[in-house]
Amino acid sequence: MPDSVNYKLFINGTWRSGADGAYISLINPADAKEFGRVAVASASDLDDALTSAQVSLSTWANTPSHQRGAVLVRAARILAGKIEAAAAALSQEQGKTLAEAKGEFARAVETFEWNGQHAQELSASVPIDDKRTLIYEPAGVVAAFTPWNYPAVLNARKLAPALAAGCPVILKAAEETPSAGVYMVEALQEAGVPAGVVNLVFGNPPMISEHLLASPSVRVLSFTGSTPVGKQLAKTAAANLQRCVLELGGHSPVIVFADADISKAASAISDYKFECAGQSCNAPSRILVARPVYETFVEKLVETAQQIKVGKPNDPATTMGPMANARRIEAMERLIKDAVARGAKVETGGTRLEQPGFYWAPTILSNVHPESTVLREEPFGPVLTVAPFDTIEEAIEEANATEYGLASYFFTESPDVQRRMISSLSTGVISVNYLKGVSADAPLGGLKQSGYGYEGGVEGVRSFQNLKLVNAASP
Ligand code: NAD
Repeated sequence: MPDSVNYKLFINGTWRSGADGAYISLINPADAKEFGRVAVASASDLDDALTSAQVSLSTWANTPSHQRGAVLVRAARILAGKIEAAAAALSQEQGKTLAEAKGEFARAVETFEWNGQHAQELSASVPIDDKRTLIYEPAGVVAAFTPWNYPAVLNARKLAPALAAGCPVILKAAEETPSAGVYMVEALQEAGVPAGVVNLVFGNPPMISEHLLASPSVRVLSFTGSTPVGKQLAKTAAANLQRCVLELGGHSPVIVFADADISKAASAISDYKFECAGQSCNAPSRILVARPVYETFVEKLVETAQQIKVGKPNDPATTMGPMANARRIEAMERLIKDAVARGAKVETGGTRLEQPGFYWAPTILSNVHPESTVLREEPFGPVLTVAPFDTIEEAIEEANATEYGLASYFFTESPDVQRRMISSLSTGVISVNYLKGVSADAPLGGLKQSGYGYEGGVEGVRSFQNLKLVNAASP
């Protein structure tokens, strides 16, 4: 890694500093030290990005869809060749382990490849009968906003389908994790994306979103982040009736039934939960366990969590890195203090590690009072709660008890119970007997306060297309 990095904005095919010369410092979560900086966009930079995106719309929209697809596939291959360097940069700024960062980039590469391979087929007209046809067209300029937890995958899930659909994009990636966007834009540029089609900006998030959404040329807002910010952006987008795709927070339950393989469930939950130090929107956060196996399950889970090696993200022995920023440490302190004050028992963890950087011990809480904040607010960190249940009705009620509806998981061998759970859980994704995240070829979207719209698969491309119904009688 270079000693210090300096990331710029990418506007109309050129890398540049912001017009005001301002920048934001980058902090390494592993030691809380500054290691570089990222340029801040001013209003005039954003105007340039809007103009270049608008001007490039007809060029990109009229580029044959198989050529757009070929550019994305080429970009995927270029990115694949840079995974080592890109993963090291991501790990340094985000705190996830090198292995996690490589895995994330591999999924970003798959996302570019899948969308590239399907660009032509998903841009084709679809006949309904001999008189009626559906035509899919690019929706227009896209304003995309991505967070700091999975910057490679989440950038790819917006950039790739929007470009496949024929839309220029202005991406505001998270200021704390700029490198994934930079690597992707470089790969797209090298792959032949015309100037203006992809723009990358950083800066003051509310200022940037207000400025971009004030332009009627922006037709789609795609945002991943917290529910309160998503709601604010949807309100702003209402002024120009911009379409919104909102991938917001989660508070995912896992239900472990008495017939489940308890050891397998405990280790699968622990592996998935503590990836990226628990800072994932679909990470499990509340575990409900059938009372007859509750004690055994908690014992196994605690044992598994205690085997996690928390440490420097670039140490191959590390299985969980630091949290991404000081805000998450403050949130963990607040959530755990509140739960303990209301009677929770800390089964393991519960504290910050005494060393420089933002390290938090994998934490399991039992006996958590229903009014505790950790059961209602998205925890977004390495904390799991466990509670026993007696009946399936009770488990379903508790699983659906938060305002979120992103993901849920359960473990049981019984086909009847599986059917009942699938129809009763109010979440956009349900995983049975294992825990699965996003993939390039399948759509995923939240219910309730977890957002609306879909990313991934066919629906992910449709999010960036307008549909025209053509009725044509023969003469
Ligand atoms: P935050 O809610 O302020 O920011 C989340 C992301 O949204 C950041 O990348 C930020 O740059 C961006 N953002 C914030 N305000 C914006 C605005 N007005 N316009 C455009 N973008 C804006 O807070 P945070 O401290 O970064 O994260 C805290 C919470 O956000 C977490 O506890 C978690 O609940 C949620 N979050 C969710 C996801 C997800 O994948 N769903 C990802 C990151 C954070």
